[in-house]
Amino acid sequence: MDRYAVFGHPVGHSKSPQIHAAFAAQTGQSLSYEAIDAPPDGFAEALRDFIEQGGRGCNVTVPFKDEAYRLADRCDALAGQAQAVNTLRVEPGGRLAGFNTDGIGLLRDLTQNLGLVLAGRRVLLVGAGGAAAGIVGPLLAAGIAQLVIVNRTPQRAGDLARRFAAHGPVRAAPLQAPGSGFDLVLNATAAGLGGRAPDLPVAVFSPETVAYDLVYGPAAGPFLALARQAGAGACHDGLGMLVEQAAEAFWLWRGVRPATAPVIAALRGA
Ligand code: NDP
Repeated sequence: MDRYAVFGHPVGHSKSPQIHAAFAAQTGQSLSYEAIDAPPDGFAEALRDFIEQGGRGCNVTVPFKDEAYRLADRCDALAGQAQAVNTLRVEPGGRLAGFNTDGIGLLRDLTQNLGLVLAGRRVLLVGAGGAAAGIVGPLLAAGIAQLVIVNRTPQRAGDLARRFAAHGPVRAAPLQAPGSGFDLVLNATAAGLGGRAPDLPVAVFSPETVAYDLVYGPAAGPFLALARQAGAGACHDGLGMLVEQAAEAFWLWRGVRPATAPVIAALRGA
């Protein structure tokens, strides 16, 4: 049976094994998928062991996406732009191909599942870590009118904006003064995992604003509560993105596209 996994630290909370088991059952693919908690300095070794034992591909989550990018023998354009890899595929001969499916996952959730139109919209991106790096390119490619990036550590927002300056209308701003009138506010910080919302002024939200936290479940609560109190018109967590980025990885590995709606519904029901 072909073997797949998600590597992270910690990784026990991951819903990826459940999602890929559902995809495999739905599409009749024979595979196994497990969560592997690698020590912070032991990802390369754990990955090598996994491949030696028949691993065909893996997902990579915090804190190993940068290292996965460096370990890949070749990367697709999105992973190259992001300088972060969340999906690895073992090629014939053992070479490693790296991909970043986070941006595709977010865009599919926003446009296909939630029915948003991105072209011409003003977007505020809060956060400048690996997840933010993975979504800036696809957002700009979707034809948004403006992308403003803010972050607790302002220098990282500036670096990210500069890295993508040639790809579209993107600039960095101070966390406390991002501007107003945003159609979409994306929280790509890990603040919710610590029970906090990023320290944003309420003026970024209006009744026309869609607020979206990349984090899902209770961890999305603080940001979405802030957005709701500030009058945002709609609020969503990142569960749909999680399932969509997984579906793209499944397609890269197996050449089959699973239906995502029943899996999102099942996870929401649970
Ligand atoms: P990183 O560790 O690379 O980056 C973390 C980001 O969060 C940085 O911008 C950091 O700011 C910011 N941050 C952390 N704590 C706080 C805080 N208390 N207040 C304000 N900002 C804070 O993580 P990732 O970018 O990889 O992931 C970010 C989140 O997105 C994670 O929670 C992850 O679970 C989620 N995610 C969801 C996905 C999905 O499919 N739904 C896919 C990928 C990620 P600073 O630079 O100042 O440290």
